[in-house]
Amino acid sequence: NLDFHPSGRHFLQIPGPSPVPDRILRAMSLPTIDHRGPEFGALGRELLDKVRQVFKTQGPVVIYPASGTGAWEAALINTLSPGDSVLMYETGHFATLWQKMARRLGLEPEFIGLPGDEGWRHGVQAEMIEARLREDSEQRIKAVCVVHNETSTGVTSDIAAVRRAIDATGHPALLMVDTISGLASADYRHDEWGVDVTISGSQKGLMLPPGISFNALSDKAIDASRKAELPKSFWAWDEILEANRNGYWPYTPNTNLLYGLDESLNMLLTEGLDNVFARHQRWAAGVREAVKAWGLEIQCQDPAVYSPVLTGVVMPEGVDADTVRQLIYRRFDLSLGMGLGKAKGRMFRIGHLGDCNDLTLMATLSGCEMGLTMSGVPLASSGVEAAMRYFSEHAPAHASDA
Ligand code: PLP
Repeated sequence: NLDFHPSGRHFLQIPGPSPVPDRILRAMSLPTIDHRGPEFGALGRELLDKVRQVFKTQGPVVIYPASGTGAWEAALINTLSPGDSVLMYETGHFATLWQKMARRLGLEPEFIGLPGDEGWRHGVQAEMIEARLREDSEQRIKAVCVVHNETSTGVTSDIAAVRRAIDATGHPALLMVDTISGLASADYRHDEWGVDVTISGSQKGLMLPPGISFNALSDKAIDASRKAELPKSFWAWDEILEANRNGYWPYTPNTNLLYGLDESLNMLLTEGLDNVFARHQRWAAGVREAVKAWGLEIQCQDPAVYSPVLTGVVMPEGVDADTVRQLIYRRFDLSLGMGLGKAKGRMFRIGHLGDCNDLTLMATLSGCEMGLTMSGVPLASSGVEAAMRYFSEHAPAHASDA
């Protein structure tokens, strides 16, 4: 509970769900309409067309009324058969959960990655995937699965490099990529990077509440779905793609979230995706300046793959990150992400995605700095001052010169 009567606005700075802009809340508050009527069909056709621009694909994007986990399952069961080998790469907690799901579905996941804690501090090592595929002369591996933006650590992965690694071996495995927390915050290119199934969700860069998720499909993935033998019904692409032709779904879609998606796409495409990406990169750089000034460690060890979406802040030995996080919540009504899986208690995560601005992030960093000091964590210098300097000296890309 808060230490005070709640007033002002809650600061939701977890790496998703991210704050929902008022424009989207208003769009979602319109009356629910007949999902088989002509007005809905027109909306469906328009938004199925627009959503492809965000994935940077000419192909279809399937939209599910489900959280991201549902779209993970959909990707696997639409394309694979019982007992298939799947090469998955351990970047963190979410990669681990996806791997567990694959096993529960009756697949044979092989989980590779850097030893010890290193895997959770670096992006996917494409050469490890290449080496493993080269050994697979019988082509038993049917898919390679990687997470683009590992939300549990704040580390991204170079998906183009993974594609090149697969191509270098001539191996026919499908490439499946989870960009649940990367889409519409970090640069992502489904077609250009040769991804077969891209999985994403609504509650991060798209600035929507949780509740819709996506599979973007290549032709090769659609071909695979015609032969795949894992049981599927609700998640099956064929009936959805058929109904989507006219802007409908084979079941009741979540109409009001789709109003929100339409508004989100309008906002993102009007701003321009490159501006959206630049804005996130700049915020992430400002937040990292603060963490460095505090003298604390960033979870990601490779500057080339720092996440533009969130930053993992590692606590000094002996400090419980959850105690610090809870104090910050209670005193300042600011929610930060907890350490997940084997990072539990060792770090907290600052989300800097979606509907933020320099001042929301300055407030967030102030809350962190006060909370760290109140928790007795020794800080080398003021991160707030460092971030203020960064934000004032680095104008946003689209700032007017006036
Ligand atoms: N994958 C990643 C990278 C995520 O960040 C999340 C959720 O945060 C998931 C998968 C699971 O998605 P959901 O919680 O929407 O089911």
